[in-house]
Amino acid sequence: MLNIVIFGAPGSGKGTQSEKIIAGYGLNHISTGDVLRSEISRQTDLGKVADSYISKGQLVPDQLIIDILESVLDGQKDSKGVIFDGFPRTTPQAIALKEMLEKRGTGISAVIALEVDEAELIERLLERGKISGRSDDNLETIQKRLDVYRNQTSPLIDYYKSKDLYNGILGMGTIEEIFNRIKQVIDKL
Ligand code: AMP
Repeated sequence: MLNIVIFGAPGSGKGTQSEKIIAGYGLNHISTGDVLRSEISRQTDLGKVADSYISKGQLVPDQLIIDILESVLDGQKDSKGVIFDGFPRTTPQAIALKEMLEKRGTGISAVIALEVDEAELIERLLERGKISGRSDDNLETIQKRLDVYRNQTSPLIDYYKSKDLYNGILGMGTIEEIFNRIKQVIDKL
């Protein structure tokens, strides 16, 4: 199986590039943010809990998101592989992902990290906020999400480097240029 973690700060283009990887390589996509937003729009109990964190730019608690991921994975048996988009975001989540995949006889093939300057991240998220209707695409929440990324998520860079899985690529330029850089990584796997 080809299991890819697409990694990067909010606004780095994970969702956009995931779509291109899915189209190009026939992988399944799991975006934990999309799963949570769907729960919110259906006003489920889980959605109500998730909204209270997302609208403040905070992470949903690890155990909650790990349980969600496990049940989504179970619903996607027989896939050629999965793109994990927005997960893991903390070290406990990374450890849980490794264990979940091992239990299923597989593992992470590569982590592809989209590296983008902070000024550009803010500009992209503000632009997206004009059309996305997302409660977290406003300047105050964007700043908070970038802090959360720096403090809780960026330690995973060293975690995956130490496991020789990390592939940093320049996440700036056109969507096509960035996708070509991603293809160079995937085609070597
Ligand atoms: P995203 O669509 O990936 O930018 O995620 C939007 C929001 O959903 C994040 O700011 C978090 O509040 C929540 N979220 C998504 N994925 C996770 C995760 N793996 N762990 C905790 N919270 C998450």
